Amino acid sequence: MPAKMLIDGKWTTARGGGTFETFDPATGAVIDTVPDATPADVDAAVAAAKRAFSSPDWAQMLPAARARLLWKIADLIEEHAEELAQLETRDQGQPFGISSQISVPNAIEHFRYYAGWATKLHGLTVPVSIPGVDYRNHREPLGVCGLITPWNFPLMIAAWKLAPALVTGNSVVMKPAEQTPLSTLRLAELCCEAGVPDGVVNVVTGGPAVGEALVRHPDVAKISFTGSTEVGREIAAETGRRLARVSLELGGKAPSIVAPDADIDAILQGNVMGGLLNCGQVCAAYTRFYVDHKRAAEFAEKIGDVASHMQLGHGLEPGTQLGPLVSEEQVERVDRYVRIGTAEGAHLVTGGERAGGELAGGYFYQPTVFADVDDSMTIAREEIFGPVLSVIPYEDADELAERANDTDYGLAAVIWSRDIGTANRLANAIKAGTVWINLPPFLDAAAPWGGMKASGVGREMGWEAILAYTETKSVWTSLA
Ligand code: NAD
Repeated sequence: MPAKMLIDGKWTTARGGGTFETFDPATGAVIDTVPDATPADVDAAVAAAKRAFSSPDWAQMLPAARARLLWKIADLIEEHAEELAQLETRDQGQPFGISSQISVPNAIEHFRYYAGWATKLHGLTVPVSIPGVDYRNHREPLGVCGLITPWNFPLMIAAWKLAPALVTGNSVVMKPAEQTPLSTLRLAELCCEAGVPDGVVNVVTGGPAVGEALVRHPDVAKISFTGSTEVGREIAAETGRRLARVSLELGGKAPSIVAPDADIDAILQGNVMGGLLNCGQVCAAYTRFYVDHKRAAEFAEKIGDVASHMQLGHGLEPGTQLGPLVSEEQVERVDRYVRIGTAEGAHLVTGGERAGGELAGGYFYQPTVFADVDDSMTIAREEIFGPVLSVIPYEDADELAERANDTDYGLAAVIWSRDIGTANRLANAIKAGTVWINLPPFLDAAAPWGGMKASGVGREMGWEAILAYTETKSVWTSLA
């Protein structure tokens, strides 16, 4: 039975019957067939969400009941954690250790964290300087929100958007990436089981055209998009034209700054994790490693050694440390960047090829480390979204902030130093939404997440996501 999508509480095929296939990236085998939504399906989903938004059982749901509903969704995800983690690994490729220890628990935590906000969404009374009036404000939901997600962490990123959208009383149409639709469909099914009213959560499956139809739809009040900067710009233009609300979580090119005083052996694991988690298919992946020129060769050799010994394999095989890339297209993209790196004069320390042998049928790429990279090289400037690390030597530590900031992106950065003053001075000088000090890339539902510059607009997580899914309404009352 092909998978179906969810419109108005009903599981449905696409109008016209179109479908597309989704693959296990570790083997290239088809694992499911999914409806290819038409613009008419998007219209139907938006219409259902619009009706549901103002239906009494959703619009007038009491805060305590809304809190219980989100908590129930979290409980159901937890009950089905093993199944969801397997599904994520099969559809996306990420090792089971990642899907079961990061993706699923993080999704659960988002629903629990936002469940807590349901009863705390208060406004303000403000002492205005006008006699005889009372002023108060409160936050109102926006309406129908289009949630468009990428393929690298499908379940987790869907939860980042869905939980705050629901707790604030919006209705949603979700559009998962065409490479990885399955965990979002299952999440929507669990929302139905938890008791989310029909039409509040809809999922339409398909490619960019489905996303575009959602972005252009006049009844969609807000688009929350995570994906490439290129598509983000198009969405910003379209939502700008029709003055819809928009949040954009886009690409990154995070610098990892190894201060002259850092202990290279002690920071190696954190850097490997930051660079190669989910095969480098992480928007905050550490990709530009700035290392003191006296120790750059040592760092490159050591990180290359760890990378070259990582076990590649199917994400469901015990012992797998690195899974495949998500698609053949992504393998070609990564390989193209590696060729460019070599052609532009970077020194290949390890990797540099598609993985062969038993892995040849899947979309595997060897973890790759380049040394002697300079800031102007393509591999140091463009987002690769694969297991490719560039070690960039520096001579003058005073130039580090400027060099780290010499990029269009501003999503994240990491600083490794034993000197708390050095680390914090750099953290203050770096233009990025998040700076970690002596840490791998941690996230938490309570900590706002998002990018500066070409890495996006707005923040997810924490209180900031509540703001992103609501607007302030002022109410003035005459006391006469
Ligand atoms: P993508 O931009 O190609 O696609 C993302 C989603 O948008 C998919 O669902 C796709 O079908 C849809 N889409 C494509 N074109 C569209 C259009 N014109 N209008 C509306 N929807 C459209 O990105 P991707 O390749 O799936 O994901 C990788 C990118 O996502 C990377 O650049 C990565 O950095 C970024 N990302 C950012 C974050 C973050 O939090 N900042 C997190 C994860 C991924």
